[in-house]
Amino acid sequence: MTQTIGFIGLGMMGMPMAGRLAAAGHTLLVADTAAAAVQAFLKANPTVTQAAGLTDFAAACVVITMLPSSDAVDSVVRGSDAAPGLLTLLQPDSVVIDMSSSEPGRTRQLAGELAAKGIHMLDAPVSGGVKRAVDGSLAIMVGGPEPIATRCQSLFEAMGKTIRHVGGPGAGHAVKALNNYVSAAGLVAAAEALIVGQAFGLDPAVMTDVFNSSTGRNNSTENKLKQFILSGKFDAGFSLRLMDKDLATALKLAQDVGQPMELGRHLVGLWHDAAGALPPQADHTEIFRYLDSHKK
Ligand code: NAD
Repeated sequence: MTQTIGFIGLGMMGMPMAGRLAAAGHTLLVADTAAAAVQAFLKANPTVTQAAGLTDFAAACVVITMLPSSDAVDSVVRGSDAAPGLLTLLQPDSVVIDMSSSEPGRTRQLAGELAAKGIHMLDAPVSGGVKRAVDGSLAIMVGGPEPIATRCQSLFEAMGKTIRHVGGPGAGHAVKALNNYVSAAGLVAAAEALIVGQAFGLDPAVMTDVFNSSTGRNNSTENKLKQFILSGKFDAGFSLRLMDKDLATALKLAQDVGQPMELGRHLVGLWHDAAGALPPQADHTEIFRYLDSHKK
């Protein structure tokens, strides 16, 4: 019997990731609260089935979530009084893989509740953005029991290139939040450098070239400044609100382990203010325009 893989969340990332699984020949059952997202996915992947509700996932051996936050993941795993979630519906020995960027503490809690029902959980967030989701070269950081991660390796290989088991439950989500902290700090530093340099009369494209051949080089200088900021496109495909959420997750982690994270606190405040000031769909590269409009 063919085993069914459930996939919940067909947004900017989930859409291409689920598409890679379908292209690799997996039998997929998909869901998203946005009907338009499901329709777009089914149009591009006609062999895939749409779930009418969470109950349709009951027979799936693996259910992958690619959702905005821990709240959304909780809502599909725990369900509600009106609609039971995966916790109630899935068979023992099935696996929930949360590939969203969720909160590590809440992931540990959820993994414990699922384990009590004999259901395994992996947290397997990704890095690389929409471009690498489309070409299947994401970096995937996996937390949870290693034998279960090994069991799911072929699924990860359909979506990613660098797949690394990083520890027990929540470890993937912890390293993902910290990675995005480093990434957000690099983007703000690069954006502020451009703003200061321009005010001094420097050409921002020339500055970017210099950074990229010097020690200031980082992912943002290489892959964001010219492509999405200097081009005026501001459409990298990762929303500013999601980055704000990830930074709050990193800061909460720091607080939970008793670390001050001085730069982190300042950075969280900055991104949070920007998220409040900009429209909900603003791309994270809009942080440049936000900083530029706030210069004295
Ligand atoms: P998105 O907002 O584009 O997509 C989220 C999807 O989830 C939407 O289609 C939404 O309708 C759906 N959804 C929300 N609640 C739901 C629910 N309860 N049940 C079913 N569907 C629901 O977000 P995204 O950019 O695809 O990001 C998804 C996750 O991946 C986030 O946790 C994000 O932080 C992380 N991430 C994003 C990127 C990126 O470049 N966009 C990169 C790495 C990680």
